[in-house]
Amino acid sequence: LELLKAAGGENVTMDQNGLAGYGSGDVKACFVSLVRNSDLWSIVESIRHVEDRFNNKFKYTWVFLNDEEFSDEFKTTVSRTVSGDAKFGVIPEEHWSYPSWIDQGKAAQTRIDMKGIIYGDSESYRHMCRFESGFFWRHPLLDEFDWYWRVEPDIKIHCDIDYDVFKWMRDNNKVYGFTISIHEYEATIKTLWKTTKDFIKLHPEYVHDNNMMDFVSDDKGKTYNLCHFWSNFEVANLNFWRSQPYRDYFDYLDKSGGFFYERWGDAPVHSIAAALFLPRDQIHYFPDIGYYHPPYNNCPLDKDLWTKNKCACDQNNDFTFQGYSCGNKYFEVNKMVKPAGWDALH
Ligand code: GDP
Ligand code: MN
Repeated sequence: LELLKAAGGENVTMDQNGLAGYGSGDVKACFVSLVRNSDLWSIVESIRHVEDRFNNKFKYTWVFLNDEEFSDEFKTTVSRTVSGDAKFGVIPEEHWSYPSWIDQGKAAQTRIDMKGIIYGDSESYRHMCRFESGFFWRHPLLDEFDWYWRVEPDIKIHCDIDYDVFKWMRDNNKVYGFTISIHEYEATIKTLWKTTKDFIKLHPEYVHDNNMMDFVSDDKGKTYNLCHFWSNFEVANLNFWRSQPYRDYFDYLDKSGGFFYERWGDAPVHSIAAALFLPRDQIHYFPDIGYYHPPYNNCPLDKDLWTKNKCACDQNNDFTFQGYSCGNKYFEVNKMVKPAGWDALH
């Protein structure tokens, strides 16, 4: 058992890579949104959903991060939309630019070659994915927090959330929470799994004995099955990303250049790390958090939950057990009981 000093001075015990043993009392938690000034009205809609369904009862701080200065209009509008404090941070340049070892000509050629793939030709999207993988949790505005909830523009929260989700995560010894899982576009991550396996060979001790390898691989680790947690929603513990295993993993991926020579998403990177380095019971699916990020919904199939929490979503549109989702896989590998009606939706 390794003893970590968590940000903010709270003592956290760490069982292999899993975080455990938080104290009771208040949780140090915030929302975090990475946005551009031009996302103002899209993020305001997201904030309204989260505030009206959850945060007006809890008033957690909201941290906004941007690769440029936020405009005065952005800051004043957003500040009056949140119920708690709003903090605005600019991302340091070294967290949103090319590291020295990247061949920028090769990166530019990749963007041409990947034109036919979603965001394949985008340079900013790659900086974004690298930032969300390796740097958001290092931003000084997050230093005082242990927990975060990631919120993107244009999302919806479909149901009331009447309990403190952060406290629930802590009290139930969870580290990573998600609402939607899905298969990745293979063309964006061609060498991610090989690079991951190379890393694991260097650090077999980082792979938790009770990992969730069977969620990300159908052949005991030989190949990646493309399943990942959709990272536009995350409720998670920052100390997991701050831990040595994850730092080493990110550094190894970053050195290999795949954020720029391919188009590695932060979702598969986070998910593979969580699936391999955490004990499987520290990952949590929220069946009760009705959520929409274009074009998919998590809409509670449990009738009582759906009614009690005043969900404003059509259960027929729940993605969990539909085609491209990894919900079926998640329920099966974790031997979870599927909600009634899960198979009526094909
Ligand atoms: P998608 O969900 O994969 O389609 O990608 P999004 O366009 O939603 O981007 C993911 C997150 O990164 C969102 O929170 C965006 O607001 C943010 N984001 C994407 N590109 C940029 C950028 O160039 N600058 C900033 N500041 N945020 C960005
Ligand atoms: Mn998005």
